[in-house]
Amino acid sequence: MARPQAKVVRPATRRAARYIYAFGAGRKDGRADMKDLLGGKGANLAEMARLGLPVPPGFTISTEVCTYYYANRRSYPPALRAQVAAALARIEKALGRRFGDPDDPLLVSVRSGARASMPGMMDTILNLGLNDRTVQGLIRASGNPRFAYDSYRRFVQMYGDVVLGLKPESKDEEDPFEVALQEKKRARGVTLDTELDADALRELVDEFKALIRMRKGVRFPEDPHAQLWGAIGAVFGSWMNQRAIVYRKLNNIPESWGTAVNVQAMVFGNMGADSGTGVAFTRDPATGENVFYGEFLMNAQGEDVVAGTRTPLPIAALEKENRSAYAELVRIRRTLERHYRDMMDIEFTIQQRKLYMLQCRVGKRTAFAAIRIAVDMVRERLIAHDEALRRVEPEQLSQLLRPIFDAREKERTVKEKRLIARGLNAGPGAASGRVVFNAEDAERRAAAGEPVILVRIETSPEDIGGMNAAQGILTARGGMTSHAALVARQMGKVCVAGCEALLIDYKARAMRITGRGEVVREGDFVSLDGSTGEVFLGQIATTPSEVVRVLIERTLAPARAPVYRLYAQLMKWADQARRLGVRANADQPDQGANALAFGAEGVGLCRTEHMFFGEGKIGPMRETILAGTAEERRAALAKLLPLQRADFAGLFRAMNGRPVTIRTLDPPLHEFLPHDEAGQREVAAALGIPFEHVRERVEALHEFNPMLGFRGCRLGIIHPEITEMQARAIFEAAAEVRQAGIPVEPEIMIPLVGHVKELALQAEVVRRVAEEVMREKGTRLRYLVGTMIEIPRGALTADEIAGVAEFFSFGTNDLTQTTLGVSRDDAARFLRPYVDTFEIYERDPFESIDRGGVGALMRIASEKGRARRPKLKLGICGEHGGDPATVRFCHEIGLDYVSCSPFRVPIARLAAARAALGA
Ligand code: ADP
Ligand code: MG
Ligand code: MG
Repeated sequence: MARPQAKVVRPATRRAARYIYAFGAGRKDGRADMKDLLGGKGANLAEMARLGLPVPPGFTISTEVCTYYYANRRSYPPALRAQVAAALARIEKALGRRFGDPDDPLLVSVRSGARASMPGMMDTILNLGLNDRTVQGLIRASGNPRFAYDSYRRFVQMYGDVVLGLKPESKDEEDPFEVALQEKKRARGVTLDTELDADALRELVDEFKALIRMRKGVRFPEDPHAQLWGAIGAVFGSWMNQRAIVYRKLNNIPESWGTAVNVQAMVFGNMGADSGTGVAFTRDPATGENVFYGEFLMNAQGEDVVAGTRTPLPIAALEKENRSAYAELVRIRRTLERHYRDMMDIEFTIQQRKLYMLQCRVGKRTAFAAIRIAVDMVRERLIAHDEALRRVEPEQLSQLLRPIFDAREKERTVKEKRLIARGLNAGPGAASGRVVFNAEDAERRAAAGEPVILVRIETSPEDIGGMNAAQGILTARGGMTSHAALVARQMGKVCVAGCEALLIDYKARAMRITGRGEVVREGDFVSLDGSTGEVFLGQIATTPSEVVRVLIERTLAPARAPVYRLYAQLMKWADQARRLGVRANADQPDQGANALAFGAEGVGLCRTEHMFFGEGKIGPMRETILAGTAEERRAALAKLLPLQRADFAGLFRAMNGRPVTIRTLDPPLHEFLPHDEAGQREVAAALGIPFEHVRERVEALHEFNPMLGFRGCRLGIIHPEITEMQARAIFEAAAEVRQAGIPVEPEIMIPLVGHVKELALQAEVVRRVAEEVMREKGTRLRYLVGTMIEIPRGALTADEIAGVAEFFSFGTNDLTQTTLGVSRDDAARFLRPYVDTFEIYERDPFESIDRGGVGALMRIASEKGRARRPKLKLGICGEHGGDPATVRFCHEIGLDYVSCSPFRVPIARLAAARAALGA
């Protein structure tokens, strides 16, 4: 071993740590790649400033302060105060306005911003710095009292909600500030916020403050500095609020990341008809089409566009409102796309005809859009193939395979006048379910197994859990950039947003539809077409997606299937990039054909027992089990032989020369027998044997723990005639198909091997039968004999086992059960809390491989196996084989292939490519 070198350690120079990074007005301390420190929002604000875009000046308090805050009982590093004061002074100097100045006050926004974008999770406060004195200064400086009081009432409202915690207290309650606002509009006989005059708004400020005092027992702070620190504390505090915690769980964001805080000079979209605010995507986030896509509102501020208080206008209409701002925005769209080489989501404000950029980030998109944008950008030479593959999450492909409404059924529904409303097509796909009006009910009903559609006036971050549980989301207000649309896109949920015809009454748990008679109540069925924005009463039958129709049903020509063509292009690149093979688990010829259509390169697991449940086979199988003697058993097995042979021949034909791994009988025998008296009597009658005999056999086969009982290779060792019959069926089928000119590559797999002698005994049977069949048929067949590695002893003695086995396939379902000592069927009670509450496992170990335990055994088995037999073929056939994280792990430990269900094959192909690219 090398001797450790003595190193000269320089004492760290003691400078106060830097907590603040400025941007705008000539400063750009940060960069887009500093998200860990500055959060996404702060890093991109700095980057936009670098690009010379018009960004109001501000500064970012780094995520390190958040970490400090939680490590030190919610307090700040001592140096922070002075740094904030200095950064604020810089903004004051740049703009010639002072914070708290009663004559011409500087106002700021306080914005959260975590490393990963968490839409709507953290709250933003606008117009901070206003009080009863500074509002007079704002009136004097702007000459616009209405604007000043509008800003003030918004500030008190946001501060009251976010910092002082005045929110609805029950799920049926409306926001108290909104109630007061509605009341004011009613009293003044107006319908829009913008129609309230300065007087009305001034009254609202006082009413809001009174509400806060009454409901929360605190006074609204008038001191701007107290306001600022209150807001900063609230942003850091919100990192640990319930909805942020839920969101992080759903999205696997570690708690340790923390959030940054951005403090930024205000610009005002609510200064009148020549001002406004908007949000946009540089391409269509639903379809991916290369068009500028967005919405704006004139005389509006902040969240007005997304909150759905007024319905916004499409971005193209901005050209009429303000030609030069629109032209500048279009230029910025191009600049940002060229710079980030991705579709961006932007926020902007126009203050008296001048454009300001307030945010940009890589835009969330549907799976359809993700693929289209990735493929288009390769064609536009913005990105390379590898990058396109990195841009599509494997799991997103499942959205492309998801069913859509059957066109005829939909037509019929329209004829029956069940098309009740139209909204925005915010999340493509088809969903039918029972209406619920709040997130809690959605979660409850969904947990009981009901499909639900969550219907809200508009959604908010509190609804995340319910949105996740629902099949689809329907809102009455809000545009394509509303909370509902944003979150639905990310979750891949079907969503129709901004369906203005809905008149929702939360208290009555019912809704009416403008211009129609019926009342839709909680529990009634509705159907959403998220691709068109249509809402229907009742349920509608679905039909397979474009990709499925081209590949599986062959009812659609690729030329007429644009989505399919994008999919095919991306898959082609994936296949070029990946090293891992991808196979499918398939028991029947049709499943094999599907798997091939999805790009599988073989069958990784054919469960022979599934064949026994097919027509005509269960009888002889039961006879086999009920047989008293080996003689009787052989007679029953002889009936099964031709049936199994036909099954295997069908699968070999379907797979057309690709390897097919067939597992010998695995489950405990009692699974093939009925457990109730009526069923047992039926079996007895069918087989012409006494009922008592059947009952006795079932009782004799009873096991306390069948998972660890008489199953797997143990069956074939005690009853070798079963393995003999199966091997004969396999080889006879192989010979038959080979004679028809189709190549065959059978791989016979022995399950549940823990000791090399178990495998040796079974392999001997298989090889003997193979020789017999080859002699009888006068032909030679290539085949392999291998084993599943699914119990720890098998993994730990893999070197011995590899002396006999020509391949290993990791049976990770059983390997997880036996390694963790957890029966999957009995895990329901504790496994969810294990993952969600106690975080013992990061993910459900039956979904995604437990790297530390099960993964370690796989690694050991692979290394030991290959040390003994360098050409040992290695694969995985457990349900984990279609999980992208597991696919990555399998790539890392050098497996040859993964095998998963046919519909997950595309996902595994993409995951394998991304693993190879290190994405
Ligand atoms: P979110 O993280 O929910 O997007 P933001 O921090 O972006 O929250 O703020 C919410 C809204 O307030 C956005 O529409 C943004 O454009 C607006 N906003 C934030 N800061 C300012 C500012 N300094 N001037 C004007 N509008 C602002
Ligand atoms: Mg924003
Ligand atoms: Mg198993």
